[in-house]
Amino acid sequence: MTSRRQFVHTVAGAAAGLYAFGGVAHGQGSAPATRRQVSIGGKRIKVIDVHAHCVIPEVAEVVKGTPFAAAAAGGPPTNILGPARLATMDGQGVDMQALSINTYWWYGADRTLAAAIVKAQNEALAKWVATHPDRFVAMTSVALQFPDLAAQQLEDGVKRLGLRGVTIGGHVNGEDVSGPKYDPFWAKAAELGAIVFMHPNESGNLVKQGALGGRGDLGNIIGNPLETTYFLSRLIFDGTLDRHPGLRVCGAHAGGYLPSYLGRTDVACEVRANANCANKKRPRDYFKRELLVDTMVFSEEGLRHLVAEVGVGQVVYGTDVPFNWPVTVDLVLNASFLSASDKESILGGNLMRLLRIT
Ligand SMILES: [Zn+2]
Repeated sequence: MTSRRQFVHTVAGAAAGLYAFGGVAHGQGSAPATRRQVSIGGKRIKVIDVHAHCVIPEVAEVVKGTPFAAAAAGGPPTNILGPARLATMDGQGVDMQALSINTYWWYGADRTLAAAIVKAQNEALAKWVATHPDRFVAMTSVALQFPDLAAQQLEDGVKRLGLRGVTIGGHVNGEDVSGPKYDPFWAKAAELGAIVFMHPNESGNLVKQGALGGRGDLGNIIGNPLETTYFLSRLIFDGTLDRHPGLRVCGAHAGGYLPSYLGRTDVACEVRANANCANKKRPRDYFKRELLVDTMVFSEEGLRHLVAEVGVGQVVYGTDVPFNWPVTVDLVLNASFLSASDKESILGGNLMRLLRIT
């Protein structure tokens, strides 16, 4: 426990700015009194936040006595629109937020109730935006489980209420929204030129048998790197790599998505109170020794980013033979950002050491 506390303390001290920002964003810190004004080359620019959550307390009345009463309460007090929201934005240097309501709990409601919920949400959003037109725009909620109704709600939101886009979840009660059934909604969004902001909710639709079937061989294309990402993340957060300090684990397919999005993993223990992390080091630090990845990223930019995130010493060459992925040593040999000795390390030097090849 002591080491865990020391780790948190060290991390917090080392990246005080980052975590102070996170605290403000999540309403855990006191917002600064002054408004940060962002300029580039002396020119003041407008900063607009596309990913700004909120809840509408008025919806509680609509769902009173239904199974959705608890879901409607939605999140921390800072999720409600009020003066604290503006203070947070001022501290962040955000001039405008494009508000949206997520978790999409109303996708389970029947048509009548869903219509009432969305109406209450959209009208309250429009009302808030009208009182602060220089600081907010908003996106419509829609009842995507009824695509025709969703299309109507989108049109009403945009044309009558002046909302600027629409937010949706990654699925409707586990069903993909990419099929023709949902075309009425997609067609309306296209017709209106309304941006569709998709927000996920913990992969409930994916973590089940058969979820990656269908076109695209997604079981391989997405599923393999997803599994690797999950596997490496578990080794980190469950403390496995700390319990067995001699481990060197190489993730296939460039470690899945983990090195591509390491920043989120890296701060999980600090910003998610329920993360219950058992790791003693920062997640990123396991890529200094314990965790390695192969070169299966197919593009110079992909390799550049991989090396930038994990370092030359943690990247080893891989081909996936006998499968016909377009991989050759030229990816490494032609990489403009690698020195000769970097190339040698990636193509063989690192593995010579790790596999004790002389
Ligand atoms: Zn979000």
